[in-house]
Amino acid sequence: TGVVTLPPWQGPARTADGHRVILGANVGAPRDTRRAVERGAEGVGLFRTEFCFLDRQSEPGIDDQVAAYREVFAAFPGQKVIVRTLDAGSDKPLPFLTADDEPNPALGVRGFRTARRDGAVLDNQLLAIARAADAESAEVQVMAPMIATVQEAEDFVQRARAAGIPSVGVMIETPSAAMVADELMRVVDFVSIGTNDLSQYTMAADRQSGELAALADPWQPALLRMIRLIGEAGERTATPVGICGESAADPALAPVLVGLGVTSLSMSARAVTAVGTALSALPLSRCRDAAAAACAALDPARARAAAAAVLAG
Ligand code: PEP
Ligand code: MG
Repeated sequence: TGVVTLPPWQGPARTADGHRVILGANVGAPRDTRRAVERGAEGVGLFRTEFCFLDRQSEPGIDDQVAAYREVFAAFPGQKVIVRTLDAGSDKPLPFLTADDEPNPALGVRGFRTARRDGAVLDNQLLAIARAADAESAEVQVMAPMIATVQEAEDFVQRARAAGIPSVGVMIETPSAAMVADELMRVVDFVSIGTNDLSQYTMAADRQSGELAALADPWQPALLRMIRLIGEAGERTATPVGICGESAADPALAPVLVGLGVTSLSMSARAVTAVGTALSALPLSRCRDAAAAACAALDPARARAAAAAVLAG
C-alpha cells in the first residue's frame, strides 16, 4: 500500500484510442520552468505574468518585461507557450494597477478590465511579449484574463494583433463568457477555461474561503455543465478549448474534462505524469460517458462516484 512513484511522463499524451490531448504546465515565474521541462510538460498552457511583478510599485519597463518573458520562452524551444496578460486585482493585486478602495475586488477592476482605465499598460506588455517571442523564435500565444463580453474579446484581439502577435485567445472564467462561447470563438483563435474563477463566479462562492470549499469543488455539476457548454461550442466551431485551473491537475477529473470536449489541460508540473497516465488507459468514448454521468449527478460526491464507476469499465 506504499505510494506509487510514476516515472516522468513521456509525452505526447493520448487516450487509449489515440485521441490527442496537450498537457501543458502552469508557470508563474522563470524559476518554475525547469521542473515543467523535467516533468514532461508539453509547453506552457498558462504563464501567469503577474507573478513576475508582484513586488513592483510601478509598471515594469518594456526591457525588464522582455528579459523575464525571454527566460520562460527559452526553456521551451519549439513548444507553445501561452502567455496570459497581467491578471491584476482581487487575489493578485499589483500596486501599479489595482485600486485599493474597491468594496468587491473579485467583482471589480481586475484582469482585462484594468485596460478600461489605462490601456497603455496592456499595450506595452503585448509589445514586450512580441519582442521576447521574436528574440527567442518562440511559438507564443497570448490570452486575456477575466473577459466577460464579446466586445472585450474583440478589443483584446485588436490590441494583440497590433503588437504583432499572431495567435490570440481569451480565458473563459465568467459565466457571461461561457454563455456567449460560440460568438467568442468566432473572434479568437483559442479559449482557455480558468476553472478556479469560473467556479467562483458560477457558484458565487469566494475561491479563497475555506468555509465555502465544498461549493467551490470542481466536481459541482453546475460547473461541469458550464464546461460542457464551452466544450460543445469548441466542437461546433473547431476551436481549441483548454483548461488551466486547478481542476486540470486531478487525474480522476481530467478524463471527464476531455469527455466534455476539452482539447488541452494545463497544470502544475507535478501533476503531468498522473494525468497523462490516467488518460492513456481510457478510450475517448469512455471519457465521454463518464462526463455525461458526472454532469447528470446531483452533487460533487455523486459526480465523482458516477464518473469513477464508468471509468473503471
Ligand atoms: C483560474 O481562474 O482558473 C486561473 C487559471 O487563473 P488564476 O487562478 O490565476 O486566477
Ligand atoms: Mg482566474
